[in-house]
Amino acid sequence: MQWEVVIGLEIHTQLATQSKIFSGSATTFGSEPNTQASLVDLGMPGTLPVLNQEAVRMAVKFGLAIDAEIGQHNVFARKNYFYPDLPKGYQISQMELPIVGKGHLDITLEDGTVKRVGITRAHLEEDAGKSLHEDFSGATGIDLNRAGTPLLEIVSEPDMRNAKEAVAYVKAIHALVRYLGICDGNMAEGSLRCDCNVSVRPKGQIEFGTRCEIKNVNSFRFIEKAINTEVRRQIELIEDGGKVIQQTRLYDPNKDETRAMRSKEEANDYRYFPDPDLLPVVIEDTFLDDVRAQLPELPPQKRERFQEQFGLSVYDASVLASSREQADYFEKVVSIGGDAKLAANWVMVELGSLLNKLGVDIDQAPVTAEQLGGMLLRISDNTISARSPRWSSRPWPMVKAAPTR
Ligand code: ADP
Ligand code: MG
Repeated sequence: MQWEVVIGLEIHTQLATQSKIFSGSATTFGSEPNTQASLVDLGMPGTLPVLNQEAVRMAVKFGLAIDAEIGQHNVFARKNYFYPDLPKGYQISQMELPIVGKGHLDITLEDGTVKRVGITRAHLEEDAGKSLHEDFSGATGIDLNRAGTPLLEIVSEPDMRNAKEAVAYVKAIHALVRYLGICDGNMAEGSLRCDCNVSVRPKGQIEFGTRCEIKNVNSFRFIEKAINTEVRRQIELIEDGGKVIQQTRLYDPNKDETRAMRSKEEANDYRYFPDPDLLPVVIEDTFLDDVRAQLPELPPQKRERFQEQFGLSVYDASVLASSREQADYFEKVVSIGGDAKLAANWVMVELGSLLNKLGVDIDQAPVTAEQLGGMLLRISDNTISARSPRWSSRPWPMVKAAPTR
């Protein structure tokens, strides 16, 4: 039987505000446990949350960038559940009236085709604290520094059809939030985490299969592996006569398997209701105009401009536009070196592999854009040759050594 895979993603991005979403505590990562938790974050009776306007601004920025309807009247709701690192017994989130409604994002696939992915909604919420199971000899420590950190949860439509598309989408979101300056994108520190909803159905079937949700996957590589592993599990299960049960699962990269965590809870299990401590948020047109005026040129527009202005292929243009730093570097190289295609090649291939080898980002490149541009100018006017044997001393560019006898 031929199977079709269906994937929808929920991405939690930590907004890069200085203070928390409902209190004045700092949001710096890695501080001593519980040094950044105020009475509000601890959920003490008698304290009241005060909404951080910067978090609202960042959410609106995101909404405008994905062409979404902005919820100009949006409402915070309590999502009730117990967890040791959630002392209030509820998380302040948004339910029926989120700040960002339906939008979309275009992603570029490996073969260069562009695919539009629907975004259902994005809502503001607070993060929970952390439970620490190590170093406490049998006990669990609770660190509430993260409690109340602003999150924007971005929910996609079930539009992805394989793991590679899912990764391309997460990369596009990652690039976008960094372009917008609303999230540092540091996945290792948990600033961007992904829940992957996966189901399979016989090819040609209209209705979706039963899905499982793999929680909190925090690297591009693991997203791809977790999805492929889960797809294999579901197909094998069904082909053996079994049935997929709707579940929340965890991915274990060491064993390359997903394991059941709990059966899927429904929205009504959480007894959502509007938070009486917070007024509805009203976003005025002038605020929208103000945020719109601050939007930078975004990856899709940059990609199109690179194609038109420099005659690059859609793939090269989208790779170069995928990070703001790389795009700026490339444009500087072209402005000096002149030949855009040559510059694109050197930035993506030669410089890219050098940076990979060194394990550094382009803003720490040992070769400046001015230097690279200057060298390309010399290659273009034939002063030097890109194949010069003088450069056989690595790493730039590599020349194959002649076989010795
Ligand atoms: P919940 O609130 O229970 O998490 P949602 O309706 O908000 O459920 O959906 C969560 C995510 O699951 C969305 O990203 C959506 O695209 C995705 N999704 C829904 N149905 C399926 C399915 N059958 N297969 C894969 N993904 C799905
Ligand atoms: Mg969900």
